[in-house]
Amino acid sequence: MSVSTAEREKITHVTGRLPGPKSAALLERWHRVEAQTTGYQAPVVWDRAQGVVVTDVDGNRYLDWTSGVLVTNVGHCHPKLVAAVQQAVALLINNYECPTESRVKAAEALVSHLPGHLDKCFFLTTGGEATEAATRIMKRKTGCYEVIGFHGGFHGRTFASASVGGMAGPKRGYGPTMPGVIRAPFPYAYRSPVDGGDKGLIDFCMTMLEETVRASSSGSLAGLLVEPYLGAAGFIFPPDGYLTELERWCRQKGILFALDEVQSSYGRTGKMWAMEWENLTPDVVAIGKGIGCGVPTAAVAARGEVIGALGPGEMSSTVGGNPVSSAAVSAILEIMDEERLADNALRMGTIMKARLVEMAERSRLLGDVRGRGLVIGMELVKDKRTKEPAPEFARELIHRCAENGLLVGSVGIFGNVIRVAPPLVIDEAEVHESLDIMEKSLLDLQTEGIA
Ligand code: PLP
Repeated sequence: MSVSTAEREKITHVTGRLPGPKSAALLERWHRVEAQTTGYQAPVVWDRAQGVVVTDVDGNRYLDWTSGVLVTNVGHCHPKLVAAVQQAVALLINNYECPTESRVKAAEALVSHLPGHLDKCFFLTTGGEATEAATRIMKRKTGCYEVIGFHGGFHGRTFASASVGGMAGPKRGYGPTMPGVIRAPFPYAYRSPVDGGDKGLIDFCMTMLEETVRASSSGSLAGLLVEPYLGAAGFIFPPDGYLTELERWCRQKGILFALDEVQSSYGRTGKMWAMEWENLTPDVVAIGKGIGCGVPTAAVAARGEVIGALGPGEMSSTVGGNPVSSAAVSAILEIMDEERLADNALRMGTIMKARLVEMAERSRLLGDVRGRGLVIGMELVKDKRTKEPAPEFARELIHRCAENGLLVGSVGIFGNVIRVAPPLVIDEAEVHESLDIMEKSLLDLQTEGIA
Protein backbone atom coordinates (compact mmCIF):
# COMPACT_ATOMS: atom_id res chain seq x y z
CA MET A 1 0.00 0.00 0.00
CA SER A 2 1.32 3.46 -0.76
CA VAL A 3 1.66 5.76 2.24
CA SER A 4 -0.91 8.15 0.79
CA THR A 5 -3.72 5.56 0.85
CA ALA A 6 -2.77 4.12 4.21
CA GLU A 7 -2.74 7.55 5.87
CA ARG A 8 -6.16 8.72 4.79
CA GLU A 9 -9.60 7.23 4.88
CA LYS A 10 -10.06 4.66 2.13
CA ILE A 11 -12.71 5.33 -0.50
CA THR A 12 -13.37 1.67 -1.21
CA HIS A 13 -15.10 -0.78 1.08
CA VAL A 14 -16.16 -4.35 0.28
CA THR A 15 -17.62 -6.74 2.85
CA GLY A 16 -17.05 -10.47 2.40
CA ARG A 17 -16.86 -12.46 -0.78
CA LEU A 18 -18.58 -11.48 -4.02
CA PRO A 19 -21.32 -11.57 -5.02
CA GLY A 20 -22.92 -10.12 -1.92
CA PRO A 21 -26.38 -11.51 -1.00
CA LYS A 22 -28.48 -8.92 -2.87
CA SER A 23 -26.22 -9.07 -5.91
CA ALA A 24 -26.39 -12.89 -5.91
CA ALA A 25 -30.20 -12.86 -5.84
CA LEU A 26 -30.43 -10.32 -8.67
CA LEU A 27 -27.87 -12.16 -10.79
CA GLU A 28 -29.90 -15.35 -10.43
CA ARG A 29 -33.13 -13.60 -11.45
CA TRP A 30 -31.33 -11.94 -14.35
CA HIS A 31 -29.90 -15.22 -15.64
CA ARG A 32 -33.39 -16.71 -15.65
CA VAL A 33 -34.88 -14.06 -17.95
CA GLU A 34 -32.25 -12.27 -20.01
CA ALA A 35 -30.15 -14.11 -22.60
CA GLN A 36 -26.60 -14.54 -21.34
CA THR A 37 -24.71 -13.17 -24.31
CA THR A 38 -22.38 -10.73 -22.60
CA GLY A 39 -18.71 -11.16 -21.69
CA TYR A 40 -17.27 -11.91 -18.26
CA GLN A 41 -17.72 -9.25 -15.57
CA ALA A 42 -17.14 -9.23 -11.83
CA PRO A 43 -20.33 -10.51 -10.09
CA VAL A 44 -21.43 -7.11 -8.87
CA VAL A 45 -24.85 -5.48 -9.35
CA TRP A 46 -24.36 -1.74 -9.56
CA ASP A 47 -26.79 0.44 -7.67
CA ARG A 48 -25.45 3.98 -8.05
CA ALA A 49 -22.29 5.84 -8.93
CA GLN A 50 -20.76 9.27 -8.63
CA GLY A 51 -17.56 10.39 -10.34
CA VAL A 52 -15.24 7.38 -10.12
CA VAL A 53 -16.98 5.64 -7.19
CA VAL A 54 -19.55 2.89 -7.72
CA THR A 55 -21.80 1.48 -4.98
CA ASP A 56 -23.42 -1.91 -5.43
CA VAL A 57 -26.79 -3.14 -4.15
CA ASP A 58 -25.08 -4.63 -1.09
CA GLY A 59 -23.57 -1.28 -0.15
CA ASN A 60 -20.03 -2.18 -1.27
CA ARG A 61 -17.98 0.74 -2.65
CA TYR A 62 -15.56 0.40 -5.56
CA LEU A 63 -13.28 2.57 -7.66
CA ASP A 64 -14.10 2.19 -11.34
CA TRP A 65 -11.54 1.52 -14.07
CA THR A 66 -14.21 0.63 -16.64
CA SER A 67 -16.21 3.86 -17.21
CA GLY A 68 -19.00 1.49 -18.29
CA VAL A 69 -16.98 0.56 -21.29
CA LEU A 70 -15.04 3.79 -21.88
CA VAL A 71 -18.29 5.73 -21.82
CA THR A 72 -18.67 7.88 -18.71
CA ASN A 73 -15.73 10.18 -19.46
CA VAL A 74 -17.14 13.10 -17.41
CA GLY A 75 -17.62 10.78 -14.45
CA HIS A 76 -20.68 8.85 -13.37
CA CYS A 77 -23.79 11.00 -12.90
CA HIS A 78 -22.02 14.33 -13.28
CA PRO A 79 -24.40 16.83 -11.62
CA LYS A 80 -24.43 19.15 -14.64
CA LEU A 81 -25.26 16.28 -16.99
CA VAL A 82 -27.94 14.94 -14.65
CA ALA A 83 -29.55 18.40 -14.43
CA ALA A 84 -29.48 18.90 -18.21
CA VAL A 85 -31.07 15.50 -18.84
CA GLN A 86 -33.71 15.94 -16.12
CA GLN A 87 -34.69 19.32 -17.51
CA ALA A 88 -34.88 17.98 -21.07
CA VAL A 89 -36.94 14.93 -20.11
CA ALA A 90 -39.59 17.11 -18.51
CA LEU A 91 -39.97 19.22 -21.66
CA LEU A 92 -39.87 16.86 -24.67
CA ILE A 93 -38.51 13.34 -24.90
CA ASN A 94 -38.88 12.53 -28.56
CA ASN A 95 -39.67 13.90 -31.95
CA TYR A 96 -38.36 12.70 -35.30
CA GLU A 97 -36.31 14.29 -38.04
CA CYS A 98 -37.39 17.83 -37.23
CA PRO A 99 -34.95 19.93 -35.29
CA THR A 100 -35.34 21.18 -31.76
CA GLU A 101 -33.37 24.06 -30.33
CA SER A 102 -31.38 21.55 -28.25
CA ARG A 103 -30.50 19.50 -31.37
CA VAL A 104 -29.29 22.59 -33.21
CA LYS A 105 -27.20 23.64 -30.20
CA ALA A 106 -25.76 20.14 -29.84
CA ALA A 107 -24.74 20.02 -33.52
CA GLU A 108 -23.17 23.48 -33.27
CA ALA A 109 -21.28 22.48 -30.13
CA LEU A 110 -20.06 19.20 -31.64
CA VAL A 111 -18.90 20.76 -34.91
CA SER A 112 -17.15 23.59 -33.05
CA HIS A 113 -15.17 21.00 -31.05
CA LEU A 114 -14.08 19.08 -34.16
CA PRO A 115 -11.07 19.96 -36.34
CA GLY A 116 -12.17 22.71 -38.75
CA HIS A 117 -12.38 20.57 -41.88
CA LEU A 118 -15.08 18.35 -40.32
CA ASP A 119 -17.89 20.84 -40.71
CA LYS A 120 -20.99 18.62 -40.75
CA CYS A 121 -22.34 16.01 -38.37
CA PHE A 122 -25.39 13.80 -38.02
CA PHE A 123 -26.76 12.29 -34.81
CA LEU A 124 -27.34 8.56 -34.42
CA THR A 125 -27.74 6.27 -31.41
CA THR A 126 -24.94 3.68 -31.16
CA GLY A 127 -21.30 3.38 -32.11
CA GLY A 128 -22.08 0.51 -34.46
CA GLU A 129 -24.63 2.68 -36.22
CA ALA A 130 -22.00 5.41 -36.58
CA THR A 131 -19.41 3.09 -38.13
CA GLU A 132 -22.05 1.64 -40.47
CA ALA A 133 -22.89 5.19 -41.47
CA ALA A 134 -19.20 5.97 -42.07
CA THR A 135 -18.98 2.95 -44.37
CA ARG A 136 -22.14 3.90 -46.24
CA ILE A 137 -21.00 7.50 -46.66
CA MET A 138 -17.68 6.38 -48.16
CA LYS A 139 -19.46 4.12 -50.64
CA ARG A 140 -22.04 6.74 -51.56
CA LYS A 141 -19.48 9.50 -52.05
CA THR A 142 -17.17 7.44 -54.25
CA GLY A 143 -19.65 5.17 -56.00
CA CYS A 144 -17.26 2.34 -55.13
CA TYR A 145 -17.98 -0.56 -52.79
CA GLU A 146 -14.77 -1.86 -51.29
CA VAL A 147 -13.75 -0.87 -47.76
CA ILE A 148 -10.43 -1.62 -46.08
CA GLY A 149 -10.42 -2.67 -42.42
CA PHE A 150 -7.80 -4.16 -40.09
CA HIS A 151 -6.96 -7.37 -38.26
CA GLY A 152 -8.19 -6.84 -34.68
CA GLY A 153 -10.38 -3.91 -35.66
CA PHE A 154 -13.71 -3.60 -33.86
CA HIS A 155 -16.47 -1.32 -35.12
CA GLY A 156 -19.59 -2.89 -33.58
CA ARG A 157 -21.78 -5.95 -33.98
CA THR A 158 -24.06 -4.96 -36.84
CA PHE A 159 -23.46 -6.65 -40.19
CA ALA A 160 -21.30 -4.10 -41.99
CA SER A 161 -19.43 -2.97 -38.88
CA ALA A 162 -18.64 -6.55 -37.83
CA SER A 163 -17.60 -7.32 -41.40
CA VAL A 164 -15.17 -4.42 -41.63
CA GLY A 165 -13.79 -5.38 -38.22
CA GLY A 166 -11.10 -7.97 -37.80
CA MET A 167 -12.18 -9.65 -34.56
CA ALA A 168 -13.44 -13.22 -34.87
CA GLY A 169 -16.03 -12.97 -32.07
CA PRO A 170 -18.71 -10.91 -33.83
CA LYS A 171 -18.39 -13.02 -37.01
CA ARG A 172 -17.86 -16.65 -36.04
CA GLY A 173 -20.92 -18.77 -36.73
CA TYR A 174 -22.80 -16.11 -38.68
CA GLY A 175 -21.95 -17.16 -42.21
CA PRO A 176 -20.37 -15.04 -44.93
CA THR A 177 -19.56 -11.44 -44.08
CA MET A 178 -20.25 -8.41 -46.24
CA PRO A 179 -18.60 -8.67 -49.64
CA GLY A 180 -16.11 -6.00 -50.57
CA VAL A 181 -14.16 -5.85 -47.29
CA ILE A 182 -10.37 -6.12 -47.47
CA ARG A 183 -8.51 -6.58 -44.18
CA ALA A 184 -4.84 -5.82 -43.56
CA PRO A 185 -2.59 -6.34 -40.50
CA PHE A 186 -2.41 -3.62 -37.83
CA PRO A 187 0.88 -3.02 -36.01
CA TYR A 188 0.93 -4.85 -32.66
CA ALA A 189 4.35 -3.92 -31.28
CA TYR A 190 4.29 -6.38 -28.35
CA ARG A 191 3.76 -9.26 -30.77
CA SER A 192 5.58 -7.87 -33.78
CA PRO A 193 6.35 -10.54 -36.42
CA VAL A 194 9.35 -8.55 -37.70
CA ASP A 195 12.60 -7.00 -36.45
CA GLY A 196 13.49 -3.37 -36.87
CA GLY A 197 11.51 -1.77 -34.05
CA ASP A 198 8.70 0.67 -34.75
CA LYS A 199 9.98 1.59 -38.19
CA GLY A 200 10.34 -2.06 -39.21
CA LEU A 201 6.81 -2.78 -38.02
CA ILE A 202 5.30 0.22 -39.82
CA ASP A 203 7.12 -0.71 -43.03
CA PHE A 204 5.90 -4.31 -42.73
CA CYS A 205 2.28 -3.27 -42.20
CA MET A 206 2.34 -0.76 -45.05
CA THR A 207 3.83 -3.39 -47.36
CA MET A 208 1.21 -5.93 -46.31
CA LEU A 209 -1.53 -3.35 -46.91
CA GLU A 210 -0.27 -2.66 -50.41
CA GLU A 211 0.10 -6.39 -51.18
CA THR A 212 -3.27 -7.33 -49.73
CA VAL A 213 -5.08 -4.65 -51.65
CA ARG A 214 -3.24 -5.53 -54.84
CA ALA A 215 -4.26 -9.18 -54.44
CA SER A 216 -7.85 -8.63 -53.26
CA SER A 217 -9.28 -5.45 -54.73
CA SER A 218 -11.50 -5.62 -57.77
CA GLY A 219 -10.63 -1.99 -58.45
CA SER A 220 -13.55 -0.45 -56.59
CA LEU A 221 -11.95 0.99 -53.44
CA ALA A 222 -14.17 3.44 -51.55
CA GLY A 223 -12.10 4.03 -48.42
CA LEU A 224 -10.43 2.77 -45.31
CA LEU A 225 -11.83 2.61 -41.77
CA VAL A 226 -9.44 2.40 -38.83
CA GLU A 227 -9.41 2.93 -35.07
CA PRO A 228 -6.66 5.27 -33.82
CA TYR A 229 -5.74 2.40 -31.47
CA LEU A 230 -7.36 -1.02 -31.47
CA GLY A 231 -9.86 -0.99 -28.60
CA ALA A 232 -11.52 -4.38 -28.28
CA ALA A 233 -8.38 -6.11 -29.58
CA GLY A 234 -6.52 -5.03 -26.45
CA PHE A 235 -5.75 -1.30 -26.41
CA ILE A 236 -3.12 -1.80 -29.09
CA PHE A 237 -1.52 1.53 -29.95
CA PRO A 238 0.28 1.70 -33.30
CA PRO A 239 3.77 3.20 -33.36
CA ASP A 240 3.78 7.00 -33.77
CA GLY A 241 3.65 7.91 -37.43
CA TYR A 242 1.71 4.84 -38.60
CA LEU A 243 -1.65 6.61 -38.88
CA THR A 244 0.01 9.46 -40.78
CA GLU A 245 1.38 6.87 -43.20
CA LEU A 246 -2.08 5.35 -43.59
CA GLU A 247 -3.64 8.71 -44.34
CA ARG A 248 -0.88 9.48 -46.85
CA TRP A 249 -1.47 6.09 -48.51
CA CYS A 250 -5.21 6.80 -48.82
CA ARG A 251 -4.54 10.19 -50.38
CA GLN A 252 -2.12 8.61 -52.83
CA LYS A 253 -4.71 6.01 -53.83
CA GLY A 254 -7.44 8.64 -54.06
CA ILE A 255 -9.67 6.85 -51.54
CA LEU A 256 -11.43 8.17 -48.43
CA PHE A 257 -9.89 7.97 -44.96
CA ALA A 258 -12.28 7.33 -42.06
CA LEU A 259 -11.50 7.10 -38.36
CA ASP A 260 -13.51 5.17 -35.80
CA GLU A 261 -13.21 7.47 -32.77
CA VAL A 262 -16.13 5.83 -30.99
CA GLN A 263 -13.97 5.05 -27.96
CA SER A 264 -10.77 7.03 -28.53
CA SER A 265 -12.34 10.51 -28.42
CA TYR A 266 -13.72 12.84 -25.75
CA GLY A 267 -10.38 13.26 -24.01
CA ARG A 268 -9.71 9.56 -23.50
CA THR A 269 -6.13 9.65 -24.86
CA GLY A 270 -5.34 13.06 -23.38
CA LYS A 271 -6.64 15.09 -26.31
CA MET A 272 -10.24 15.71 -27.26
CA TRP A 273 -9.78 13.55 -30.39
CA ALA A 274 -7.10 10.91 -30.81
CA MET A 275 -6.61 12.18 -34.38
CA GLU A 276 -5.05 15.33 -32.90
CA TRP A 277 -1.91 13.44 -31.82
CA GLU A 278 -0.82 13.25 -35.47
CA ASN A 279 -2.92 16.09 -36.88
CA LEU A 280 -4.83 13.66 -39.07
CA THR A 281 -7.48 15.04 -41.39
CA PRO A 282 -9.95 12.17 -41.90
CA ASP A 283 -12.82 12.60 -44.33
CA VAL A 284 -15.27 10.84 -42.02
CA VAL A 285 -15.27 10.19 -38.25
CA ALA A 286 -17.52 7.85 -36.26
CA ILE A 287 -18.26 9.09 -32.72
CA GLY A 288 -19.94 7.25 -29.82
CA LYS A 289 -19.55 6.35 -26.15
CA GLY A 290 -18.24 9.58 -24.49
CA ILE A 291 -20.47 11.80 -26.63
CA GLY A 292 -23.41 10.78 -24.43
CA CYS A 293 -21.59 9.44 -21.35
CA GLY A 294 -24.31 6.81 -20.95
CA VAL A 295 -27.20 8.68 -22.57
CA PRO A 296 -27.57 6.66 -25.80
CA THR A 297 -26.09 8.90 -28.48
CA ALA A 298 -23.65 8.65 -31.35
CA ALA A 299 -22.77 10.70 -34.39
CA VAL A 300 -20.94 10.73 -37.63
CA ALA A 301 -18.96 13.79 -38.68
CA ALA A 302 -17.47 14.49 -42.09
CA ARG A 303 -16.33 17.05 -44.56
CA GLY A 304 -19.48 18.72 -45.88
CA GLU A 305 -18.75 17.71 -49.48
CA VAL A 306 -18.36 14.06 -48.45
CA ILE A 307 -21.51 13.63 -46.36
CA GLY A 308 -23.26 15.91 -48.85
CA ALA A 309 -23.27 13.00 -51.30
CA LEU A 310 -26.24 11.63 -49.36
CA GLY A 311 -29.60 13.02 -50.36
CA PRO A 312 -32.81 13.54 -48.36
CA GLY A 313 -34.03 10.42 -46.59
CA GLU A 314 -30.78 8.51 -47.03
CA MET A 315 -29.71 8.70 -43.40
CA SER A 316 -32.00 8.81 -40.45
CA SER A 317 -32.27 7.22 -37.01
CA THR A 318 -35.48 6.84 -34.99
CA VAL A 319 -34.19 8.39 -31.77
CA GLY A 320 -30.98 9.95 -33.10
CA GLY A 321 -30.73 13.61 -32.09
CA ASN A 322 -33.69 13.41 -29.71
CA PRO A 323 -34.00 16.33 -27.29
CA VAL A 324 -32.73 14.40 -24.27
CA SER A 325 -29.61 13.10 -26.01
CA SER A 326 -29.04 16.53 -27.52
CA ALA A 327 -29.14 18.18 -24.10
CA ALA A 328 -26.59 15.62 -22.93
CA VAL A 329 -24.28 16.29 -25.90
CA SER A 330 -24.12 20.02 -25.14
CA ALA A 331 -23.74 19.60 -21.37
CA ILE A 332 -20.91 17.06 -21.79
CA LEU A 333 -18.93 19.34 -24.10
CA GLU A 334 -19.29 22.18 -21.58
CA ILE A 335 -18.06 19.90 -18.78
CA MET A 336 -15.11 18.71 -20.89
CA ASP A 337 -14.04 22.33 -21.45
CA GLU A 338 -14.74 23.67 -17.95
CA GLU A 339 -12.95 20.84 -16.19
CA ARG A 340 -10.19 20.44 -18.79
CA LEU A 341 -10.73 16.71 -18.69
CA ALA A 342 -8.40 15.85 -21.57
CA ASP A 343 -5.54 17.50 -19.64
CA ASN A 344 -6.48 15.60 -16.50
CA ALA A 345 -6.54 12.35 -18.49
CA LEU A 346 -3.01 12.99 -19.66
CA ARG A 347 -1.74 13.91 -16.19
CA MET A 348 -3.38 11.05 -14.33
CA GLY A 349 -2.61 8.61 -17.14
CA THR A 350 1.09 9.43 -16.91
CA ILE A 351 1.10 8.64 -13.18
CA MET A 352 -0.86 5.44 -13.69
CA LYS A 353 1.26 4.16 -16.54
CA ALA A 354 4.50 4.79 -14.65
CA ARG A 355 3.30 2.76 -11.65
CA LEU A 356 1.92 0.00 -13.87
CA VAL A 357 5.25 -0.25 -15.70
CA GLU A 358 6.96 -0.66 -12.29
CA MET A 359 4.41 -3.35 -11.43
CA ALA A 360 5.23 -5.17 -14.66
CA GLU A 361 8.87 -5.29 -13.63
CA ARG A 362 7.89 -7.05 -10.41
CA SER A 363 5.26 -9.35 -11.88
CA ARG A 364 6.07 -12.44 -13.91
CA LEU A 365 2.59 -12.34 -15.47
CA LEU A 366 2.22 -8.72 -16.57
CA GLY A 367 3.89 -8.86 -19.96
CA ASP A 368 3.11 -5.44 -21.38
CA VAL A 369 1.74 -2.07 -20.27
CA ARG A 370 0.77 0.29 -23.08
CA GLY A 371 -1.47 3.21 -23.78
CA ARG A 372 -1.86 6.95 -23.61
CA GLY A 373 -3.91 9.17 -21.34
CA LEU A 374 -6.53 7.13 -19.53
CA VAL A 375 -6.63 4.18 -21.87
CA ILE A 376 -3.98 1.73 -20.75
CA GLY A 377 -3.82 -2.00 -21.43
CA MET A 378 -2.19 -4.54 -19.11
CA GLU A 379 -1.44 -7.66 -21.16
CA LEU A 380 -1.25 -10.81 -19.04
CA VAL A 381 0.85 -13.75 -20.15
CA LYS A 382 1.76 -17.15 -18.70
CA ASP A 383 5.41 -16.62 -19.50
CA LYS A 384 7.08 -13.36 -20.45
CA ARG A 385 9.44 -15.13 -22.85
CA THR A 386 6.87 -17.11 -24.86
CA LYS A 387 4.15 -14.44 -24.36
CA GLU A 388 1.53 -17.17 -24.16
CA PRO A 389 -1.74 -15.32 -23.36
CA ALA A 390 -3.25 -15.85 -19.88
CA PRO A 391 -7.01 -15.17 -20.26
CA GLU A 392 -7.93 -17.38 -17.25
CA PHE A 393 -5.66 -15.29 -15.05
CA ALA A 394 -7.36 -12.13 -16.37
CA ARG A 395 -10.68 -13.49 -15.04
CA GLU A 396 -9.17 -14.32 -11.67
CA LEU A 397 -7.68 -10.86 -11.48
CA ILE A 398 -10.98 -9.16 -12.35
CA HIS A 399 -12.68 -11.07 -9.53
CA ARG A 400 -9.93 -10.45 -6.98
CA CYS A 401 -9.73 -6.73 -7.83
CA ALA A 402 -13.49 -6.44 -7.27
CA GLU A 403 -13.21 -8.16 -3.89
CA ASN A 404 -10.52 -5.63 -3.03
CA GLY A 405 -12.63 -2.68 -4.24
CA LEU A 406 -11.65 -2.08 -7.88
CA LEU A 407 -13.83 -2.70 -10.93
CA VAL A 408 -11.93 -3.69 -14.06
CA GLY A 409 -12.78 -5.50 -17.28
CA SER A 410 -10.83 -7.34 -19.93
CA VAL A 411 -10.45 -7.11 -23.69
CA GLY A 412 -8.03 -8.46 -26.24
CA ILE A 413 -7.75 -10.72 -29.24
CA PHE A 414 -6.84 -13.41 -26.68
CA GLY A 415 -9.03 -12.03 -23.84
CA ASN A 416 -5.94 -11.38 -21.71
CA VAL A 417 -5.76 -7.59 -21.49
CA ILE A 418 -6.99 -5.71 -18.43
CA ARG A 419 -8.59 -2.37 -19.26
CA VAL A 420 -7.35 0.63 -17.31
CA ALA A 421 -9.93 3.23 -18.35
CA PRO A 422 -11.38 5.17 -15.42
CA PRO A 423 -13.61 8.22 -15.85
CA LEU A 424 -11.46 11.21 -16.78
CA VAL A 425 -12.37 13.03 -13.54
CA ILE A 426 -10.22 10.66 -11.49
CA ASP A 427 -7.99 12.47 -8.98
CA GLU A 428 -4.60 11.54 -7.53
CA ALA A 429 -5.97 9.95 -4.35
CA GLU A 430 -8.28 7.74 -6.45
CA VAL A 431 -5.42 6.95 -8.81
CA HIS A 432 -3.18 5.73 -6.00
CA GLU A 433 -5.83 3.84 -4.07
CA SER A 434 -6.92 2.01 -7.22
CA LEU A 435 -3.32 1.23 -8.18
CA ASP A 436 -2.67 -0.09 -4.66
CA ILE A 437 -5.60 -2.46 -5.12
CA MET A 438 -4.39 -3.61 -8.51
CA GLU A 439 -0.88 -4.17 -7.21
CA LYS A 440 -2.07 -6.15 -4.19
CA SER A 441 -4.48 -8.27 -6.26
CA LEU A 442 -1.92 -9.02 -8.94
CA LEU A 443 0.91 -9.90 -6.59
CA ASP A 444 -1.30 -11.86 -4.16
CA LEU A 445 -2.67 -14.05 -6.94
CA GLN A 446 0.83 -14.60 -8.19
CA THR A 447 2.05 -15.59 -4.72
CA GLU A 448 -0.92 -17.88 -4.20
CA GLY A 449 0.08 -19.64 -7.42
CA ILE A 450 -3.32 -19.03 -9.04
CA ALA A 451 -1.67 -18.41 -12.40
N1 PLP B 1 -16.30 1.22 -32.50
C1 PLP B 1 -15.44 1.05 -31.47
C2 PLP B 1 -14.02 1.48 -31.62
C3 PLP B 1 -15.89 0.49 -30.28
O1 PLP B 1 -15.03 0.31 -29.27
C4 PLP B 1 -17.25 0.11 -30.17
C5 PLP B 1 -17.76 -0.51 -28.93
O2 PLP B 1 -17.06 -0.97 -28.07
C6 PLP B 1 -18.10 0.30 -31.26
C7 PLP B 1 -17.59 0.87 -32.41
C8 PLP B 1 -19.54 -0.10 -31.19
O3 PLP B 1 -20.24 0.75 -30.35
P1 PLP B 1 -21.71 0.36 -29.83
O4 PLP B 1 -21.54 -0.77 -28.87
O5 PLP B 1 -22.21 1.61 -29.19
O6 PLP B 1 -22.50 -0.03 -31.03
